[in-house]
Amino acid sequence: MALMPAVVLTGDRRIELRDRAEPDRRADQVIVDIDLCGICGSDLHSPDLPQVYRGGFTLGHEATGVLSWVGDDVDGWAVGQRVAVNPNGNVDGTCEHCRAGRRNFCRRATMETALGLQMDGGLAPRMAAFPGSLRAVPEGMSRYAAAWVEPTATALRAVGQAGDLTGADVLVTGGGPIGQLVLRLCRLRGAGSLTLVEPSEERRRFGAASGADASLDPAAARRDLRDLRADVAIEASGSGRAVELAVDALEPQGVLVVVGASDKTGLDPAAILFKELTVRGSFTYDAEFDDAVALLADGAVAVDDLTTRVSPLDGALDAFASLRSASTLKVLIDPTG
Ligand SMILES: [Zn+2]
Repeated sequence: MALMPAVVLTGDRRIELRDRAEPDRRADQVIVDIDLCGICGSDLHSPDLPQVYRGGFTLGHEATGVLSWVGDDVDGWAVGQRVAVNPNGNVDGTCEHCRAGRRNFCRRATMETALGLQMDGGLAPRMAAFPGSLRAVPEGMSRYAAAWVEPTATALRAVGQAGDLTGADVLVTGGGPIGQLVLRLCRLRGAGSLTLVEPSEERRRFGAASGADASLDPAAARRDLRDLRADVAIEASGSGRAVELAVDALEPQGVLVVVGASDKTGLDPAAILFKELTVRGSFTYDAEFDDAVALLADGAVAVDDLTTRVSPLDGALDAFASLRSASTLKVLIDPTG
């Protein structure tokens, strides 16, 4: 059996670099030779998220690459095509959620066959995928841009959940990759002012390039945030304390969008009541994936400056450690390097 190296979330829930079998060649799937695959914040927490990360699989749900093999039953794709992989793209179109127009909740796509969560993902030289997960990369689109499609789709949905942003004063909590993308997208959508709150100095310094008018340390931010009188807060840090800050900073009838997963609530029901706040979740994406391809392909959203490190597979575990300590913003793994 041919083996290849891969970053695996083991059955006993540890992240390890291991030898894995090459993917099977199924007639209803393709093989993607991975060019780049990003490490997501949720990958760092994957050992503690058994409800979505099944364990015993290769991680990596932000992959781009080239088709090196196409199964006989797969129509419309050819060897040599560049693709961005939608890990939640294998929607069945028939379940109750799909029929209700909530394709981002499709059980098969998000809970059974999501690449890098419940099936082998892209932190390896090769990955098998169902054709529903494939999106063509437009000619001329850079490899970095292609690698950022999945997180950009996540950020796009979060920004969309906030409603019309024209002239709005927006607070973004969490200056990781999603927070930076959210800032850039809010700028495109005509936000009036943008404030970033982020504890890591390394990450705060990207705020200005992402369009933030102010980038604050949460330790010093509370009073400034009360003055901010935010119309919209987008929580992209996964910290309960950030949720608390956001609720505090919102004006009456303000909107809080939650795209960072936290196990601490920070949500005060009394504040929601007294300020008539609207709280909206943002879960994966649907049409936003294709919108993200278009935005990145035409350069409307820049990502090269956010790509702080590109590492070969054998540096992946070290990259996980750097991301845990927030000493780098975004790492793309290049399995060909
Ligand atoms: Zn479905």
